[in-house]
Amino acid sequence: MTTKTFHAVNPTTNQSLEAQFTNTSLKELDEAVKRATNAFSSYRKKDKEEIAAFLEQIAEEIVNLGEALIKTCHLETGLPVARLEGERGRTVNQLKLFATVVREGSWVDARIDTAIPSRLPLPKPDIRHILIPLGPVAVFGASNFPFAFSTAGGDTASALASGCPVIVKAHEAHPETSELVAKAILKAIQNCGMPEGTFSLLQANSRTIGEALVKHPGIKAVGFTGSYTGGKALFDYANSRLEPIPVFAEMGSTNPVFILPGALQDKAASIADGMAGSITMGVGQFCTNPGLCFVQKSENLDKFYTQLKNKISKTAAGTMLTRNIKKAYDKGIQKNKNIDEVEEFVIGLAEESTNSSSPRIFKTSIDNYMKNHSLSEENFGPSSVLVEVKSKESILEAAKNLEGHLTATIFGTAADFLEYSELFDILELKVGRIVINGYPTGVEVCHSMVHGGPFPATTAPNSTSVGAGAIKRFVRPVCYQDYPQSKLPDALKNENPFHIWRLVNGNFTQSKL
Ligand code: NAP
Repeated sequence: MTTKTFHAVNPTTNQSLEAQFTNTSLKELDEAVKRATNAFSSYRKKDKEEIAAFLEQIAEEIVNLGEALIKTCHLETGLPVARLEGERGRTVNQLKLFATVVREGSWVDARIDTAIPSRLPLPKPDIRHILIPLGPVAVFGASNFPFAFSTAGGDTASALASGCPVIVKAHEAHPETSELVAKAILKAIQNCGMPEGTFSLLQANSRTIGEALVKHPGIKAVGFTGSYTGGKALFDYANSRLEPIPVFAEMGSTNPVFILPGALQDKAASIADGMAGSITMGVGQFCTNPGLCFVQKSENLDKFYTQLKNKISKTAAGTMLTRNIKKAYDKGIQKNKNIDEVEEFVIGLAEESTNSSSPRIFKTSIDNYMKNHSLSEENFGPSSVLVEVKSKESILEAAKNLEGHLTATIFGTAADFLEYSELFDILELKVGRIVINGYPTGVEVCHSMVHGGPFPATTAPNSTSVGAGAIKRFVRPVCYQDYPQSKLPDALKNENPFHIWRLVNGNFTQSKL
């Protein structure tokens, strides 16, 4: 329900927290976008060293918030302190990673084709290509990553790195955490002399503000992590605008796991241990949680089942992030229970408080799975569906039937990989990341990470929301034909003052022209 003011709720106690927040008005939203638009003209011209130093300063200011940040976030999300400390570290490292990318400079994809005036029948012009920022970006904070995918998370860091101002719509579940981080960013703006309006935070528990933000003509791109319905709604708003804009929504994913017979032969028990950990980690509230697991009937399958049952049945229930997430999880569990021939395979230890959820694993046959599409949909929380498959052909068929996901995992031996070679080709077209003999939870922040995938995992299959490649979401290519040297961006000038890698007449080089 939308109210003028709102409070966060401590999910552990279900009590409202003291701090009160006021819903942003449409007028305030408009002013924030106008400030961002004004800031854009000077922010985009900041040199790479200034932007890198700014990102590093944000990281430092977040660390300076100290224990107060962790304490506040713990109360608002119920997430354990150790997890939050780890996530803060990851957030700071993301900012630092983008600082190194910007400082190195080659990410701008400078390409130069020099002129050939004597070419016949027509002279060849001098053409130079570079990536430039799109303009103000709207970012929606995620409930499940209050630091790493929220106010100063990966979307904000990559958009600021690319030269775009950012307006964050805080997640209503952690408004005070968002406010504290926003203050750190604003301090960095002051310290680094960045234009006012480079960053704003909007507090709201109303969908009206999110919709108005995406539809505001001054917004040029959107970053989002959350539900399929939320992401798709924002995508539709963006496409209904007079000027449609890109929406980089990372939505639901079930992250299918394939356990092949050789792997079961060798390591049935240890794979079961690892799967139990991956399914229940963080009360299953990760977008890479393995929600679907295909196992082929083979000699050691029972060993896998016994160990999985053993582990899950002893796993404690955990507090979910919000009442709505808990409600959605319970609904998903009930939905599975109502499907014929779906066995409730194992339940974890009992729930002890209102918002806590026990892990639950279901099991069914491949034939039944194929008849019930909803079994392949995400149920956000510590739950997974085991699908028992009788033949290699059925495994391949199930893989071909998958929609887009963030990840897929294959457990197998070298002999399995030969035998199931086609599975690799199928999965490559279905997901953003394929994991071999590992677990999908845990997304490394690095240069080569892809955290994305075909729809419905995301609305932009040609992008990643984690890792250095995320910067490419908020730029577009532009080329300059026969431009005077004085008017070219430094990255494209003959002398290559930044010594960056450029594609010159088809060859990569750091040399000057
Ligand atoms: P959500 O409902 O998708 O909301 C995320 C953000 O988008 C919030 O700021 C929300 O605003 C806004 N929003 C959602 N729908 C909107 C609309 N129609 N118009 C304008 N703004 C809209 O996600 P959530 O609150 O974090 O959790 C709900 C469900 O999302 C979970 O049960 C789970 O299924 C899924 N989820 C998935 C992932 C994942 O990584 N795959 C992560 C988190 C959640 P308000 O806060 O004002 O509503």
